[in-house]
Amino acid sequence: MANLLAILCLILVLLCTWANDTRGQYFKYKDPKQSLPARIKDLMQRMTLEEKIGQMTQIDATIASPEIIKTYNIGGVLISPPARMASAEAWMNMADAFQNGSLSTRLGIPIIIGTDAIHGHNNAYGATIFPHNVGLGATRDPQLVKRIGAATALEIRATGIPYTFAPCVAVCRDPRWGRCFESYSEDHKIVQAMTEIIPGLQGEVPSNYLRRFPYVNGRTKVAGCAKHFVGDGGTINGIDEFNTIIDWNGLQNIHMSAYLDSIRKGVATVMVSYSSWNGRKMHANHDLITGYLKRRLKFKGFVISDSEGIDRITFPPRVNYTYSVQAAIHAGIDMVMVPYTYVEFIDALTSLVKKNVIPMSRINDAVERILRIKFILGLFEYPIADRSLVNQLGSQEHRELSREAVRKSLVLLKNGKNSDEPLLPLPKKAHRILVAGSHADNIGNQCGGWTIEWHGRSGNITIGTTILTAVKNTTDPDTEIVYCENPDSEFLKSNNFSYAIVVVGELPYSEYFGDSMDLKIADPGYSTINSVCESVKCVVVVISGRPVVLEPYLEKMHALVAAWLPGTEGQGVADVLFGDYGFTGKLARTWFRTVDQLPMNVGDPHYDPLFPFGYGLTTTPRELIAAQ
Ligand code: BGC
Repeated sequence: MANLLAILCLILVLLCTWANDTRGQYFKYKDPKQSLPARIKDLMQRMTLEEKIGQMTQIDATIASPEIIKTYNIGGVLISPPARMASAEAWMNMADAFQNGSLSTRLGIPIIIGTDAIHGHNNAYGATIFPHNVGLGATRDPQLVKRIGAATALEIRATGIPYTFAPCVAVCRDPRWGRCFESYSEDHKIVQAMTEIIPGLQGEVPSNYLRRFPYVNGRTKVAGCAKHFVGDGGTINGIDEFNTIIDWNGLQNIHMSAYLDSIRKGVATVMVSYSSWNGRKMHANHDLITGYLKRRLKFKGFVISDSEGIDRITFPPRVNYTYSVQAAIHAGIDMVMVPYTYVEFIDALTSLVKKNVIPMSRINDAVERILRIKFILGLFEYPIADRSLVNQLGSQEHRELSREAVRKSLVLLKNGKNSDEPLLPLPKKAHRILVAGSHADNIGNQCGGWTIEWHGRSGNITIGTTILTAVKNTTDPDTEIVYCENPDSEFLKSNNFSYAIVVVGELPYSEYFGDSMDLKIADPGYSTINSVCESVKCVVVVISGRPVVLEPYLEKMHALVAAWLPGTEGQGVADVLFGDYGFTGKLARTWFRTVDQLPMNVGDPHYDPLFPFGYGLTTTPRELIAAQ
């Protein structure tokens, strides 16, 4: 009897195994030879409501595990570094572990892992950090920005990630906004031109490809995300996440135009803005997300919420989470960056669908879009990290590219107290040069926010070349370089400096932490300018995410350079200061005199800037001077 029972049990186990064994069985959606619509349709037909809602859920890596991903059929993960100074391999191991969680689900739908690579792969230690967008706008060089996109894609892939929440196509209309440095310009035409980063990140859309259809070209490219839809850069007084008051024409002309370019260039996803338009939260704006972006502009990728963006539909956030979920999904958001309370999100959405508050057609639209991007990305064929790419992270070639971008982003605002006595280019051979200021020898300060950490951090946070090191690399070996962060007058008088380079600016910040109503540089920046420039011929290099208050100090300076947030390749600053290359950058932002003029943008009737939009002096490279 016992034997019979054992045999029966064995037969039962074998039966179960056979039923679950999918080997040998044909799945249309897994067949890359099938058309994209056929694969999507086949997969969707197999999916349960639970699996569909899981696809719409993006969770944070800090709370994610392969088990959670498997249990809840999670569709996306927002990744963060596996450890401080993690290697590319460590990133890949983490990404693959998450991926294996989703591959072990019933249907094996791969997860899409995303990161905020907004100026290079900025969360990864040792990555090339490119100038922030405010500096790239000053280059006026969309082809350069495209190359930066391609390099960034490789560095992201070097850590096993296929998706970045970039580019930010905000048109910052008020530098008091803490995210102004994420914007290429106050002029939408420059922002539009810089959407060339999209073909860099995703690949160039082939001429015979579907119009306005998302495109990602293989395993060395990543899916991009145009953000934050829409009007994020137009909020009152530049207050982050606040209200943009503007009529429809203004919204369309200024803030919407770059989305058209992005869609034409095949952008895979669009992220919704925390801000409101004329008092209506964008995360609940059905007219703009569904009516305009999806129907009118025919955007076929997926729309992702901002992090906890749906929570903030109500004030205070999350007071009525079910309502938030309802409003956001109804508005047309496809994937929700939850990122922590995924059980609540899944439960709320499931019950809204079961009660017919949210129609199944809306869920199907969302899932179809998400799967479309996953198929286009090639995730079904290549879900696992490509180990051959690890050496792309922080490669010399990418650092050279970033250095070029730094050179082209510098804007020369003043050169000599009289125009016939220019200070720049600086002589490489001199008796003794002073390098001063809080930003002269500080990688963290020159990278700004969104570097290694969310807000960035001062200090030696990643691999790169500080401006001080760059000066030492560039000057004649017989020239003495003295570095003193904030020298006193005694020191200045007793040292007989030939000239001084003063590097000052803002300390790193991101998002609303950077909102500033006074736009002053960090202490003791102004006093360093005053004391050094009073006793020594000085060039002031300002490291900032936006124009800052300078007018009261301008008179004292002999030369002034806006260097924005150049990133890890400080050598680019020295290349131009010492004349190996000429200054070519032009302001992509208006430089105000006083903050009470703000907002003030090119074309405004009350336009009276310290330096107008488009301003930028030039210098001739030393080689060309010699040849003349
Ligand atoms: C920012 C987004 C970012 C997201 C994910 C949000 O706070 O607004 O720009 O992509 O976080 O990190």
